[in-house]
Amino acid sequence: MSRTPQVSFEVFPPAPKVEERFWTTVSRLAVLEPVYLSVTYGAGGSGRDRSDRVLRRLRRQAGPVPAAHLTVVGASRAETDALAKGWIDAGITRFVALRGDMPEMGDAFAPNPEGYAGAAELTVALKRLGAQHVSVGAYPEPHPDYRGGESDLAHLQAKFAAGADDAITQYVFEPELFLRYRDRVAAAGIDKPIVVGVMPIFDFAKVASFSRRCGASVPAWLDARFAPLADQPEAHHEAAVETAVSFCRRLQGEGVEGFHIYTLNRADLTIDICRELGWASPAKLREAAA
Ligand code: FAD
Repeated sequence: MSRTPQVSFEVFPPAPKVEERFWTTVSRLAVLEPVYLSVTYGAGGSGRDRSDRVLRRLRRQAGPVPAAHLTVVGASRAETDALAKGWIDAGITRFVALRGDMPEMGDAFAPNPEGYAGAAELTVALKRLGAQHVSVGAYPEPHPDYRGGESDLAHLQAKFAAGADDAITQYVFEPELFLRYRDRVAAAGIDKPIVVGVMPIFDFAKVASFSRRCGASVPAWLDARFAPLADQPEAHHEAAVETAVSFCRRLQGEGVEGFHIYTLNRADLTIDICRELGWASPAKLREAAA
């Protein structure tokens, strides 16, 4: 019997008009007792006020430990430090440190002349400012900026050398992609935890389109499974639960101990996945379903 893994969730800060629903979602997810709840940072550094509001409220209320995503895009070192320091002073000491992408989709990354060069420099800064735990990104499938050979692992190693505590992967749909990556990471002598990112398929068309943009491959069997279900919400939901559950089970069977679920601010799918996997007590699940 595999041990219960370390499960964390990711949400994005909501638009003001759906904020109330967002907090209901958060309280339902909280019942599942994730190790932490991470809050994304707007692409290109946009929407930082929204992240700030959500993180501070999460910190104030009883519930999951908040983790702040932060990117280096478009900000000077002083601006980044001021934001991070404000969060750390407020008791938010867990971070996901990222380079980020340029505001214009597809533009080559260019650091702000006054800013941090990337996630490794950001990690050093966060640790210096008092962050207790810093996660970084990792890419089982080639990131659009992959430079060939083992350069991606050297780059990951540099982020760990900078002080990162673990890495969270971009999502993949084939367990083997993660397992092969884990083998490459181990062969490179990296012994830090690699947490697998899990993307529940809340809407296949949207997930497929998003995957094309971020370089995550969508296997043909997934397409065949979901294509006929576009107008059948219940069957789609069931297929999404089954797909995520079988993915996680396979990896748990291979000894994977850390799972990070990209909830996309939807509690139902995440709750049903955790229920099927036995990752929450029945009493807690009844509370979450209420
Ligand atoms: P890096 O790891 O620095 O670079 C990505 C890849 O490019 C590397 O894996 C490597 O292959 C190559 N590369 C880059 N620099 C070098 C180098 N010097 N030498 C060799 N190879 C190099 N974006 C947001 O805007 N907000 C978020 O909240 C957010 N959350 C995320 C959470 C997770 C878990 C992940 C995986 C991604 C998230 N992203 C987010 C997306 C992320 O910002 C983009 O994928 C971005 O393009 C890369 O950021 P990074 O820090 O992972 O990059």
